[in-house]
Amino acid sequence: AQRLPLPPKTRVLTVANQKGGVGKTTTTVNLAAALARSGARVLVIDLDPQGNASTALGIEHRSETVSVYDVIIGDVPMAGVVQKSPEFESLYCLPATIHLAGAEIELVSLVAREQRLHTALDQFLAESPDLFHYVFIDCPPSLGLLTINAFVAAQEVLIPIQCEYYALEGLSQLLNNIKLIERHLNPVLTVSTILLTMYDSRTNLANQVAQDVRDHFPDQVLNTLIPRSVRISEAPSYGQTVISYDTNSTGSLSYLEAAAEIARRGAPQ
Ligand code: ADP
Ligand code: MG
Repeated sequence: AQRLPLPPKTRVLTVANQKGGVGKTTTTVNLAAALARSGARVLVIDLDPQGNASTALGIEHRSETVSVYDVIIGDVPMAGVVQKSPEFESLYCLPATIHLAGAEIELVSLVAREQRLHTALDQFLAESPDLFHYVFIDCPPSLGLLTINAFVAAQEVLIPIQCEYYALEGLSQLLNNIKLIERHLNPVLTVSTILLTMYDSRTNLANQVAQDVRDHFPDQVLNTLIPRSVRISEAPSYGQTVISYDTNSTGSLSYLEAAAEIARRGAPQ
């Protein structure tokens, strides 16, 4: 596998878009796998009660599994909850179970309700004997307290955008929310990366959407586009990322290339 530059400090990226089905989870697990394969130590935090990222990484997340819910609501230290990927040597996952569905409500009455993930993650990273190079946080499709916890815990936001007609709808709401978090809760937060997903080069519409997004966000959009690919959508049902399921497929190669871009660009200044 190709070696990539490693960041000197942990980069924490929140993968967010309040729309469902735009490729957040797919992007999270495949970028994480691609970076782990290139030699980085990577942690995926599954912050969606659906637990799709845990599933795709082949990580146990039955309802009895100790999970991110216990970390956020029960103050359980992350170190005992993080699981190792069965496939990639340096890839780890903090799983989500269905209990997380109640967390949005339970968080409301807790002290420091916006900072709970941040506090737990900072402690985990500080006590970890080896440096984690990347942490990816997979968000649910909403802008509730779980997503706010993800924004507060991160330095970077990665927004996947699906190349379809409604792509830009809702984006200004997302950006406004991020601006509010930056102003009030996390001054270092930046939208560092935008990734165009489910791209179909045969349609004029996809090309038009891709061009619009590039015009609006010239510095954030990665050159690499993720094509619509059956192999990408099949991989999760085998508990695998496309990187291991079909390494040489166009979908896998596109995520490897996107990961290389993220690594070479480095953290925002
Ligand atoms: P989100 O996490 O934003 O809800 P997902 O990553 O779960 O979105 O993707 C939604 C659906 O689209 C899933 O079934 C996934 O397998 C599929 N999918 C994601 N990216 C691609 C792609 N590039 N090509 C084909 N199917 C994709
Ligand atoms: Mg998802």
